[in-house]
Amino acid sequence: MRNLLLFILFLIGLYYVRRALRRPGAPGPQAGRQDDDGGPQQRGAPPAEIEQMVACLRCGLHVPESEGVRGAGGFYCSEEHRRLGPRG
Ligand SMILES: [Zn+2]
Repeated sequence: MRNLLLFILFLIGLYYVRRALRRPGAPGPQAGRQDDDGGPQQRGAPPAEIEQMVACLRCGLHVPESEGVRGAGGFYCSEEHRRLGPRG
């Protein structure tokens, strides 16, 4: 029983020591973490723009506005469809 109490006290002490080491103000293993630029994808990469999807006048396919072609009469999914023109 006495050993169990000592073990619990040891765990509590360990918990406080670990919490003290993780305090933001203290210089610790996490110092400078917020300035770390090793982020895999969210940092550096431009935020994904929500692009408008526009229907091709020829085939009706919805493509992002930047990937399509804007021609006479409207918007097309590809250069070929722009050349073919609107359907019908
Ligand atoms: Zn098309």
